[in-house]
Amino acid sequence: MTGQYEDFYGHVIDGKETESDDGRRFTSVDPWQGHAWAEIAEGGPTDTDRAVGAARQAFDTGEWPRMGHAARGRILHRLAALIEEHAAELATADSRDMGRPHAQALAKDVPRAAANFRFFADHARLTAAEHLPADNGTHVYTRYEPAGVVAAIAPWNFPLMLESWKIAPALAHGNTVVLKPAEQSPVSATLLARLALEAGMPPGVLNVLHGHGPAAAGEFLVSHPGVDRITFTGESATGRAIARAAADRLTPLSLELGGKAAGLVFADSDLDRAVTWSVTGAYLNAGQVCLAGSRIYVERPVYHAFLERFTAAAAALRAGDPADPGTDIGPLASAEHHTKVRGFLDRLDGGPEGRLLAGGPDPDDPRLVRPTVVVDAAEEAAVLRQEIFGPVATVVPFDTEEEAVARANGTPYGLNAMVFTEDLRRAHRTAGALRGGTVWVNCFFVRDLRAPFGGVGASGIGREGGTHSREFFTEPKAVVMDIAGAIGPEATGAAR
Ligand code: NAD
Repeated sequence: MTGQYEDFYGHVIDGKETESDDGRRFTSVDPWQGHAWAEIAEGGPTDTDRAVGAARQAFDTGEWPRMGHAARGRILHRLAALIEEHAAELATADSRDMGRPHAQALAKDVPRAAANFRFFADHARLTAAEHLPADNGTHVYTRYEPAGVVAAIAPWNFPLMLESWKIAPALAHGNTVVLKPAEQSPVSATLLARLALEAGMPPGVLNVLHGHGPAAAGEFLVSHPGVDRITFTGESATGRAIARAAADRLTPLSLELGGKAAGLVFADSDLDRAVTWSVTGAYLNAGQVCLAGSRIYVERPVYHAFLERFTAAAAALRAGDPADPGTDIGPLASAEHHTKVRGFLDRLDGGPEGRLLAGGPDPDDPRLVRPTVVVDAAEEAAVLRQEIFGPVATVVPFDTEEEAVARANGTPYGLNAMVFTEDLRRAHRTAGALRGGTVWVNCFFVRDLRAPFGGVGASGIGREGGTHSREFFTEPKAVVMDIAGAIGPEATGAAR
C-alpha cells in the first residue's frame, strides 16, 4: 500500500518486482469510480534496457529455451491452474482498470487466459518438429527453434486475455518475453508475472515493463536492438508506427490491428439467431472489440423486422456498475475514450451522417453510453467508415448479395465478417467473397485456437493461432542428412 492509492504495481524484471530507475509512477483510473485506484511504475529507457537485458540473458544462457517442451509445458499448465485459482483477483484488476463487467471477466476472460496457456503448451509440444523421410537416401527434418526475445505490446480492451494470447505461444515455443501492457490496464500483467514465478518459471523469462506508448516504454521496447520479435495488438495507426520502428532492424512483427466488421443478415436467415448474435457482435464489452460487428447490412424484406427486434434486444441490455452481476455493459474504458465515442454520436445529423434511432449517451449517468442504434447513414458516413470502438451499431438495408458483399468489403479494414443465412451455398460463397481473416457463419466470436487469427489491409499483418503462432515465434531450420552414405555431388540442387 502506498497511502493515496489502494496498491502499487511494479515492473517485473528478472524475477523481481521493481520501481522505475527514476522512481516515476503513473496511475490507473477506475472509469466507474472516476478516480485513480492503483499506482504503477512508469518505465523509461533504462528500465527498458533492464527488461530486455533480463530477457536476453534468460534466453542466451538460461534453461527456458533448453529445457524442452514437456518441462516448459508443465510450468505453463501450473500457471494456467494458478490463473484459475486467482480468477477473482485477476477479474477485479481488469474490471477496475477498464470497466469490464466483473462477472464477464470472471466467466470469460480469465478462463480463456488459462486456456491460452494450456493450449499453446500442448500444441507446441505436439508440433515441435516435422520429419520428411525420403527414399533417396536423405532424411530431412525441420527444427522449430525459439526466435529469442519477444516484445509483446497489448491493448486495454481485454487486458489479461489478449496478453495471454500473445505471450502463451511465445513462451511455449521457448522464447523469453517482455510484455508491455496498455497504460490504461496495467494491473493484471503484474499479477500474471507474479503467478508465473510462483508456477516455477525462471526469472527473466516473463518480464513486465509498464508505461506509455510513443516516446516512452512502448516505443523504447519496439526500437530496442535486443528484441527479436514484436507482437502487437492495438490501433492501426500505432501498428504503422511500430512497423516503422521495426524496419530499421528488420525485426519480424505480427500486427493485430483495428477493424470495422460487417454482419450480413439475409432474408433466409433464422432471424432470432441473427438478432441474438448481432446484438452480441455490436455490444459485447461495450463495443470495445476489434471484431465488433458495428455495420449490420440487412436484406430489405426483413430489414424492418430485424431492426425492431434488434433495437428491442439492445434496449434490454443493462448498462451500469461493472461490479454488479446484472450489468451487461460497463462504462467506456477511460474518459478520453468516452469523449471519442461521444464525438461520433455528436456528428449524427439526421442526414447522410446517420440518425440516432435508439440509445446514445445515458441522460442520467454521464459515464455511460447505452447500446446505440444508428440508421439512414450514407456509405461514406463516419459511423460506417471509422472504427468507433464503442456500443454503436449502424443498420443498413441492402437488395442483392453482390451489393452486400461489396459494402462489407468497402473499408480499408479486413479483420472479420459475419454472415447469417440458412442457405448453404450462399454461406460458402459469401465466406469466400468477404475480405478478412475470419468469417463467422451464423455465430460470432467463437474461437478455435488452432485456427489462423489476424487481419488483412489496415487490420494487420500476419496470423497467430496454432501452427501460425509457431511460424511466427520460431526460426524454422531445415536439417538435411545423408543417412545412407550413398549420394554424391550430382544430387545438389535436385528437387524432390
Ligand atoms: P493503442 O494502439 O492505442 O495502444 C496499444 C498499445 O500500444 C498500448 O500498450 C500502448 O501503450 C502501445 N503503444 C502506443 N504507441 C506506441 C508506439 N509508438 N510504440 C510502441 N507501443 C505503442 O490501442 P488501444 O487503444 O489500447 O486498443 C484499441 C485498439 O486495439 C483498437 O483499434 C482495436 O481494434 C485494436 N485491437 C485489435 C485486436 C486484434 O486482434 N486485431 C484485438 C484487440 C484490439
